[in-house]
Amino acid sequence: MKILVINTGSSSIKYKLFHLPQEREISSGIVERIGEAGSKISFSMESVNGNIIEDTVEEDFEDHRSGLKKIAEILFRKEYQLLNSPEDIQAVGHRVVHGGETFQEPVIIDNKVVQQIEKLIPLAPLHNPPNLEGIRVAREVFPSASQVAVFDTAFHQSLPPYAYHYAIPSSFHKEHGIRVYGMHGTSHQYVAQQAAKYLKKDVETVNFITIHLGNGCSMTAISNGKSVDTSMGFSPLSGLMMGTRSGDIDPAVVFYMGNQMNMSLEEINQLLNKKSGLKGLTGSNDLRDIIKWQEKGDETASLVLDMYIYRIKKYIGAYYAALGKLDAIVFTAGVGENSPLIREKACQGLEALGIQVDKDKNQQHKSGVAASRIREIQADDSLVKIMVVPTNEELSIAQQTYQVLDK
Ligand code: ADP
Repeated sequence: MKILVINTGSSSIKYKLFHLPQEREISSGIVERIGEAGSKISFSMESVNGNIIEDTVEEDFEDHRSGLKKIAEILFRKEYQLLNSPEDIQAVGHRVVHGGETFQEPVIIDNKVVQQIEKLIPLAPLHNPPNLEGIRVAREVFPSASQVAVFDTAFHQSLPPYAYHYAIPSSFHKEHGIRVYGMHGTSHQYVAQQAAKYLKKDVETVNFITIHLGNGCSMTAISNGKSVDTSMGFSPLSGLMMGTRSGDIDPAVVFYMGNQMNMSLEEINQLLNKKSGLKGLTGSNDLRDIIKWQEKGDETASLVLDMYIYRIKKYIGAYYAALGKLDAIVFTAGVGENSPLIREKACQGLEALGIQVDKDKNQQHKSGVAASRIREIQADDSLVKIMVVPTNEELSIAQQTYQVLDK
């Protein structure tokens, strides 16, 4: 079955085309700057003779509809011999950021599901509207395909009530849905399943702390395959320090900024979401820059790295306590997969908890094909395994789409 996975942002559409159950990726690409000057599509695919075709085409994409139509046009080009007609795509899997308390698992999209996702817009005003637009357009462009929604929040719906309630009057939860939801669920779930498979264990018998360090960063405590706590909360703003988000901050800072500094709510929102974290502190949200500056003796960079690492370490301690027993710590995403420094420092000093990195194993496979494989990096006498597991949210969405339709 050919499954197209779509991740629609406010001005972009990322796509990947898979063949399931073989899990073969056939093509991938991104339409960027939709509705802005300089919009373009970049894509790659395997040609009939096995060569990789890569191209970028600059074109005016005034809306998501024109972007998705272009993706379809490229996938159906005769010269690539990938697909013959829109019917060749049997399903479209959509990444939907917020499923609220309504969606605990992926669903086949019908008009009722669209209405339910619309109702959740207040919880994710920046993300659910473009996700919905992607669904609407995909239903038009691929009318014969089943459309499936896979939610970023769904995996965390297993949090126990004592972990997901905030200590504010319960009417805020009941009437307005204010509680912990957590994000990056698809990635945490995927790497946990992959790690369990690698360890030859049933995921429902093992406890993990999964650490997703990309531009957005989050950690999850996973008990017997279920998320029991996670560092993002009502929104992606809480928890770890991130590329541009502050992570945990005393909410009184917000009142101070408003009352004493006359900042508007929107200015504070922009500050904490877009101009904080690594970017706000150093000017760059690329951790590689900050590591480079620190190596050259830059004191700010050194402090910022310490802050970034300390936050991760605190959550390891917290989640170890929440789980009681820990089988493995799993690092994933851009930083987690590629930065030996962050992995080593985040686990440093935790030997008494049975957590110890092997420096050599941690340094191996920094790049190349081997870097995309699952590997263990703990010392021989570390009681807890420490693993690097590449995430693949799109493949996970394709797998979940396939499973829903297979039922
Ligand atoms: P996104 O959340 O956008 O999907 P990624 O998972 O691709 O993000 O991660 C992006 C981050 O990964 C960037 O901050 C980048 O600096 C970081 N990164 C990539 N490679 C390395 C590396 N070798 N060392 C440190 N950080 C890295």
